[in-house]
Amino acid sequence: MNADTRVLLSLDEALARLAAGAAPHALRRTESVSTFDALGRVLAAEVLSALDVPPADNSAMDGYALHAASVPAAGTVLPVSQRIPAGVPGLALRPGTAARIFTGGQVPAGADAIVMQEQCEPLPGDGLGSVRVDVVPQHGQWIRRRGEDVRLGSAVLHRGARLTPQALGLAASVGAALLPVVRRPRAALFSTGDELMMPGQPLRPGAIYNSNRYMLRGLLQAAGCEVTDLGIVPDRLDATRMALREAAAANDLIVTSGGVSVGEEDHLKPAAQAEGRLEQWQIAIKPGKPLAFGEIRRADGTAALLLGLPGNPVSSFVTYLLCVSTVLRVLQGAPAALPVGLTLRADFDWPRPDRRREFLRVRVNAGGGLDLYPNQSSGVLTSAVWADGLVDNPPDQAIGRGDTVQFVSLAELISR
Ligand code: AMP
Ligand code: MG
Repeated sequence: MNADTRVLLSLDEALARLAAGAAPHALRRTESVSTFDALGRVLAAEVLSALDVPPADNSAMDGYALHAASVPAAGTVLPVSQRIPAGVPGLALRPGTAARIFTGGQVPAGADAIVMQEQCEPLPGDGLGSVRVDVVPQHGQWIRRRGEDVRLGSAVLHRGARLTPQALGLAASVGAALLPVVRRPRAALFSTGDELMMPGQPLRPGAIYNSNRYMLRGLLQAAGCEVTDLGIVPDRLDATRMALREAAAANDLIVTSGGVSVGEEDHLKPAAQAEGRLEQWQIAIKPGKPLAFGEIRRADGTAALLLGLPGNPVSSFVTYLLCVSTVLRVLQGAPAALPVGLTLRADFDWPRPDRRREFLRVRVNAGGGLDLYPNQSSGVLTSAVWADGLVDNPPDQAIGRGDTVQFVSLAELISR
């Protein structure tokens, strides 16, 4: 990295540089965790199925298993030769009979159709009695086929995938009791700014409450990081250097907020340069133009990554979602690409676009279009709470009511 550059980058270029800078830091240690405890973790290897799922043909209905050809006409009566609840394999079906069967029950050899109980009338008699079948069954109906969900030997989950609740269910369905996951990234967080105070303290004149600390901590936690929160670091070079050193010693990534704008009293840059190296970027996006990217040396010669986010809360939020999450994904071996957006209709006008690529806070309305939060200022955190997504608007592109735009959901960005 060049120590003293201030470059205007496209977002794509910035993300490519972040990914390239993070790649050598990829976490190599993996661990095996109980599938019970693996929610939100990132898979370190693919999960292969050691069996077919379902393992055998089974009934999708409560009803009767039979050979379709033995019911040539509605109203045919067949003796009931056995009873097959779920979990108990039955015997081969005696020709010319039906088996009482329940949902999930294994289809007996010789049966090729299930008739649901609503289309049958049980008739009393010796043993299990008989059944009148009031429809002509189709071959194969209401049978869930062996392996129709998962084939033996196939990969059900892939390396780099973040484990969702449904992924844990799928892993369990193929019998995986343990899952190989990447160790959690360790992230240190601190805020810079002498104007910052913590909620719980009365606000002194000129001060504001530190919102980024809560928001960024939450974002890092939502991404599965072990977070070390170093609080507010005073706007002083020595204090900033000390915080960086402490953070680098025990963490993979250091995230800071504030102190990266152009022309401000900027201690992050000299501190990072004294403790490692730093590039200050201007990314052609709005909100969130300034970003610092660097490395802080550790005593053993290795280094922690540093990402300095802008202080304005919405800028911090958006640059986290675009940039920090990309770095975290690369560290964990997950694909770096941003989520694919949706093309949706704008139900608003945006007549004076910026020269930079803009990320507008919007909400999907009941008509399937997008409403715009009226105040798009980078200090207005209300917009990020009101919104359920961002419009990714190209540079200089005016938006008129009815135009289609690219929408990315916040839920998807936060959980990626
Ligand atoms: P800076 O990036 O330090 O120039 O800060 C830009 C703006 O964001 C200023 O108005 C700061 O007061 C505000 N700001 C910086 N850090 C925070 C924070 N942790 N929470 C809320 N606002 C902040
Ligand atoms: Mg500041």
